[in-house]
Amino acid sequence: MRITDVDAVVVGSGCGGLIAATKLREAGLDPLLIEKTEYVGGTAAWALGGLWFPANPLEPEAGIADSVEDGLAYVEAAVGDQGPATTRARQEAYMRGGQRLIQRLTVYPQDTATLATFLKSNA
Ligand SMILES: Cc1cc2nc3c(=O)[nH]c(=O)nc-3n(C[C@H](O)[C@H](O)[C@H](O)COP(=O)(O)OP(=O)(O)OC[C@H]3O[C@@H](n4cnc5c(N)ncnc54)[C@H](O)[C@@H]3O)c2cc1C
Repeated sequence: MRITDVDAVVVGSGCGGLIAATKLREAGLDPLLIEKTEYVGGTAAWALGGLWFPANPLEPEAGIADSVEDGLAYVEAAVGDQGPATTRARQEAYMRGGQRLIQRLTVYPQDTATLATFLKSNA
C-alpha cells in the first residue's frame, strides 16, 4: 500500500484514534491508522478498558436506572471544581457529549464490536 492510496492518516490507536478512524469510515473515506507500539488501544487498553458515561443510551436496555444528575453528583463529590479543567460546564459537557458519543458508536455495531475486541484483547 502506498500512502497516497488512503484518504486520511490517523496517528495512534487510542480511543481518540479509533473513533476518528470510525468517523472517517462513516464519512465514506478510507483512513490509515498507524500505531507506534505493538498494541492497539492506547491508554484505555491498559487502564480500565471501558467507557464511563452516565445515562448512556445502552443502560435502559441493560435495565440500569441512571441519570446525568447522578453522574454530575458523583463527579462533584469525587473531583469538584478545581479550576478550568473541572468546571461545572465542562462536567456537563462530558456527560451530555458522552451520551451522543455512545449513540453514534452504537449506529455502527461492527466497528463498535471491533473496538471492544481490540480493547479487551489488549487489556
Ligand atoms: C486507570 C485509568 C482509568 C481511566 N478511566 C477513564 C474513564 O472512566 N473515563 C474516561 O473518559 N477516561 C478514563 N481514563 C482516561 C482515558 O483512558 C484516556 O484519556 C484516553 O484513553 C486517552 O485516549 P487518547 O486516544 O486520547 O490517547 P492514548 O490512549 O494515549 O492513545 C495515543 C496512542 O497513540 C500512540 N502514539 C503516540 N505517538 C505516536 C506516534 N508518533 N506514531 C504512532 N502512534 C503514536 C500511542 O502509542 C497510543 O496508542 C482513564 C485512564 C486511566 C489510566
